[in-house]
Amino acid sequence: MPGRRDVLKGLGAGVGLAGASIAGLIYRADGMTQALRYGPGEPGPDVGSALEPTLQCEAGRLTTAQTEGPFYTPKTPERRDIRAALHGGVTLVVAGRVLDTQCRPVPGAVLDFWQTDHTGRYDNHGYCYRGHQRTDADGRFELLTVRPVKYQALGVWRTPHIHVKAQGASTRMLTTQLYLPDEQESNSRDFIFHESLLMTMLEGDASAQRARFDFVLADA
Ligand code: FE
Repeated sequence: MPGRRDVLKGLGAGVGLAGASIAGLIYRADGMTQALRYGPGEPGPDVGSALEPTLQCEAGRLTTAQTEGPFYTPKTPERRDIRAALHGGVTLVVAGRVLDTQCRPVPGAVLDFWQTDHTGRYDNHGYCYRGHQRTDADGRFELLTVRPVKYQALGVWRTPHIHVKAQGASTRMLTTQLYLPDEQESNSRDFIFHESLLMTMLEGDASAQRARFDFVLADA
């Protein structure tokens, strides 16, 4: 039985119409969502950063789900900084909260992030730009990463995005993708992009750009 990576390698080798149509199936397969291997549990360490008090939450309005795509790797390391040891690109800090349908914080929820590096490549052999974390006692998370960039893989062109799976002890698992608001042109060309998944850019500084996103998860 070929593994997923062998299949991907095979697809990569055979770039063409066949590859493109298979890629289309993979990207459109809404039901193709692998479960998280680490259950929600105790809250993670205090995030400690200041979050604006206004929640991006409207009671009962769930965060939009999206396909996980072909590049998810399970069993990621638990960490908030998913950058490679030697990384290029622009540092991006994404912070926010995981909330239930009543906009209450969900402590101990698991968030598993994955994305490309600053050249548009996924690490499909290791865990660079992959990692999971648990929300703190206030339902807060903080991701340290670099700005993802647009890429083309398996015949599909993608606007910059961060993939994520999220689950609390009493919520369903959400699989979705987050987008950058200052990539309007790329976003408008992407057939998966959804406006409700735009992060809010906050004031950054010379060392990092900052963004905010709050997740609202369905009850289990
Ligand atoms: Fe992707």
